[in-house]
Amino acid sequence: MGTEQLSYDIVVVGGGSAGVAAAVGSAQSGAKTLILESAGFLGGAATLKCVQTYCGLFTIVDQPRPSVLGVAASVIRKLRAIGGVRGPVKFRGVFMLLDTEAVKFVLDSVCEDAGVDVLLHAQMICAERSGGRIRSVTYHDHNGDHEVTAKAFVDASGECDLAYFAGASTRYGNHGFVNLGTLGTRFGGISPDADISADVWQAAIRRARRDGREPLSKDTSMIARVPLSNDVITYLVSEAYDARSAASISTAERLGRKQAWAYLDIIRTIKGCENAYLAVTGPSFGTRESRHIDCTYQVTEADVLKGASFEDSVGLGSWGTEWHDSETDQSVFNLPGGANGAYEIPLRALTSVDTPNLFAAGRTADGDQMAGASLRVMGTAFATGHACGAAAAQFAHSGSADVPNIQKALKTQGALTDANDLPDPVKLLTAA
Ligand SMILES: Cc1cc2nc3c(=O)[nH]c(=O)nc-3n(C[C@H](O)[C@H](O)[C@H](O)COP(=O)(O)OP(=O)(O)OC[C@H]3O[C@@H](n4cnc5c(N)ncnc54)[C@H](O)[C@@H]3O)c2cc1C
Repeated sequence: MGTEQLSYDIVVVGGGSAGVAAAVGSAQSGAKTLILESAGFLGGAATLKCVQTYCGLFTIVDQPRPSVLGVAASVIRKLRAIGGVRGPVKFRGVFMLLDTEAVKFVLDSVCEDAGVDVLLHAQMICAERSGGRIRSVTYHDHNGDHEVTAKAFVDASGECDLAYFAGASTRYGNHGFVNLGTLGTRFGGISPDADISADVWQAAIRRARRDGREPLSKDTSMIARVPLSNDVITYLVSEAYDARSAASISTAERLGRKQAWAYLDIIRTIKGCENAYLAVTGPSFGTRESRHIDCTYQVTEADVLKGASFEDSVGLGSWGTEWHDSETDQSVFNLPGGANGAYEIPLRALTSVDTPNLFAAGRTADGDQMAGASLRVMGTAFATGHACGAAAAQFAHSGSADVPNIQKALKTQGALTDANDLPDPVKLLTAA
C-alpha cells in the first residue's frame, strides 16, 4: 500500500465522456474532485475505442435543437477552436464528428480549467464500504496500491467496476440481453473523391460474402470522414463477448483484428479506396453494454419513446434506442417521441438503490434493454455525468441529494434539464 493517504470530496472512477462531465460538474459545484482513469488519456470510447461521433447532443427531428449543453458545450467549443470537431451532421441520427487527438487535448484542458485533479494510468482495483456507504477506493500504479477516501463517488467506469467492487447492487445487461460489441475501425488512404456511401460499401461487402470472404460480421454501419485526418471510420467489425472477462475479450480482440483485415481487402475493391490502409483498430474493442448499477428508478423503453417528463429531471436524452443484436448482427433504431424529440432523465435513474453516496454516470446508468441502448451514447453520457457530479457534490456538502438544489446548480452551469425548454434549432452540415 502507498504511504500517502489521499482524501477528496468526490472521486470519479473513469475519465470518459461521463467521467469528465461528472468531475467538472462536481468541481464547478465547489467540491474537491479527483478522476481515476486507467488509460494514459481521457475520453473513454472517443479515444480508446475509435468512437469518433458524439451522438445524443441534438434532437433528431426536422429542425434539430441542442439537447445537452453544460460541460459538453465547453468541450465542443474547445474542439471547434482547434478544428477537432465537425458538425452537426445527420445520418440516421444527428451527431458531431471528432478527431481523437483533439479530444484527448481538450479534455485535459476542461479538467484543468475546472480545477479537477486527474490521475491517469490509475486503475481502481477495489473499494471499501462502511456503514452502508462507500468509504474509499484503491487504485494501482507501478508503485503499488493507493487508497483514496471521499464523501461521495461517481461510477463512470462503463463496466461498473466501482459499484461492483464496493458491493453495491449491479447487473450485467438486461434479462440476458447485452448490446453487441464492435471494434471501431478507421481507414486511411481513401481518396477524397471515393464514394463512401453506406450503400456502395454494403454492396461490396455483400459481394465478398457471396464469394466466401470471411471472417465478416456487419454488412453496414455509419461510414463517415473524421476531421483533420479525413480518415474514414466504420463500426462494422463485431463480436459477442463478456466485457467482464479478460479471456472473453481477448478472443474477441483477436477475431476482430482478423475481420478488420478482411474488411480492408474488400474496401480496396471500391473505386478510390485502392490505397486504403488500417489507420487504427480500437485501440481496443468497443463495449456498448456491460454492467448497470441498480438504481431507485429504471428508465424504460416507453419513457424514451413517449418523451417522458420527470419532476426530478437532471438531464435530457435524445438518441434513439439503438440496439445491435448479437445473434443476427442487425441493428434497430427507434426515435424518442414527444413533441420535442427528447426525454427527461430522472436523478433516481442515477442514484444507487442501496448505496446513497454512489452515483451512476454514462453506461452505468439504469435503463432497461432499449432505454439503456439510448442512454449510453456519449452526448447523453455527458448529461448523466454532469448530473452525477452536481448530485455527488450536493451529497458531499449536505449529506443528501436534494433535487431542487441539484437542478439549480446544473442550470447555473448551463446544463439542460427540461425537455420543453430547448434552445433554437441548429444548422446541419453534410456528413462526408
Ligand atoms: C462500436 C461502438 C460505437 C458506438 N457509437 C457511438 C456513437 O457513434 N456515438 C456515441 O455517442 N456513442 C457511441 N457508442 C456508445 C459510447 O461510446 C459509450 O456508450 C460511451 O462512451 C459511454 O461513455 P462512458 O463515459 O460511460 O464510458 P466510456 O467511454 O467507456 O469510458 C469509461 C472510462 O472508464 C475507464 N475505466 C474503466 N474501468 C476503470 C477502472 N477500474 N479504473 C479506472 N478507470 C477505469 C476506461 O478506461 C474509460 O476511459 C458506441 C459504442 C461502441 C462500442
